[in-house]
Amino acid sequence: MKSYRINEIFFSLQGEGARTGSAGLFVRFSRCNLTCRVETHGFDCDTEFESGTDFTAEEILAELRALTSNCDWVVLTGGEPGLQVDTELIEALHEAGYKLAIETNGTVELPEGLDWITVSPKVAEEAIRQRQADEVKVVCRHGQAVPETMVEADHYWISPAFEGDRVDDRTLDWCIQLVKQNPRWRLSVQMHKFWGIR
Ligand code: SF4
Repeated sequence: MKSYRINEIFFSLQGEGARTGSAGLFVRFSRCNLTCRVETHGFDCDTEFESGTDFTAEEILAELRALTSNCDWVVLTGGEPGLQVDTELIEALHEAGYKLAIETNGTVELPEGLDWITVSPKVAEEAIRQRQADEVKVVCRHGQAVPETMVEADHYWISPAFEGDRVDDRTLDWCIQLVKQNPRWRLSVQMHKFWGIR
C-alpha cells in the first residue's frame, strides 16, 4: 500500500497569510528539494523536515481524527509537500470531509483538487512550476526587492525573514517600506512565533 514520509502531524493555528488565526490540522511531509541558506536565499530554513515515519493515507486519517474532531482544514506542509502529495491522498482526505490547504515552494506542479494553495517561491521565477495559487508569500530580508512574480493569486504577502523566533527591526522596517511602495503586496508576519506555537 502507498505510504507517505511524514515528519509530524499536529493541531495548531495558521500563523501566516490570509488564513492567519484559523485552526488547522498540520501534516508536515519529510524532505525538500531545496536547501535555503542565508548565502543563497537570504535566510536559513529553520524547519526540521528530514526525519520521518511512513504513513498510509488511512494512518494519516487516524492520526488526524485522534487529534480532534473539531477541525475540517488540513494544512499540507513540509519540507516540500508537493514531492509526495498525490491524487490518491487528496481523494482520501476529501472523502473523510477535510478541506486541504498546501504550502509549497512552487517548484513542483501540484495535482488537481487542493482547496487552498500558498506558493512561497524560493527559486528564480523560471523554475516555478505552480503558476496558479490563492496566495503568494515571499520571505524578504533587509535590502531584498519585491520580485515580479508570475504566479497568479488573489493575495500577495511580504514576510519578514526571522532569525530563530526573532525578527530584526531593520528587516521589519524594510518590509513595511516595501509594502508602502508596492500596494499589491501586504505584510504577513509569522504570528505563530509570537504566539509561542508551532
Ligand atoms: S523550500 Fe521551505 S522547507 Fe525547503 S529548505 Fe526552503 S524554507 Fe526550508
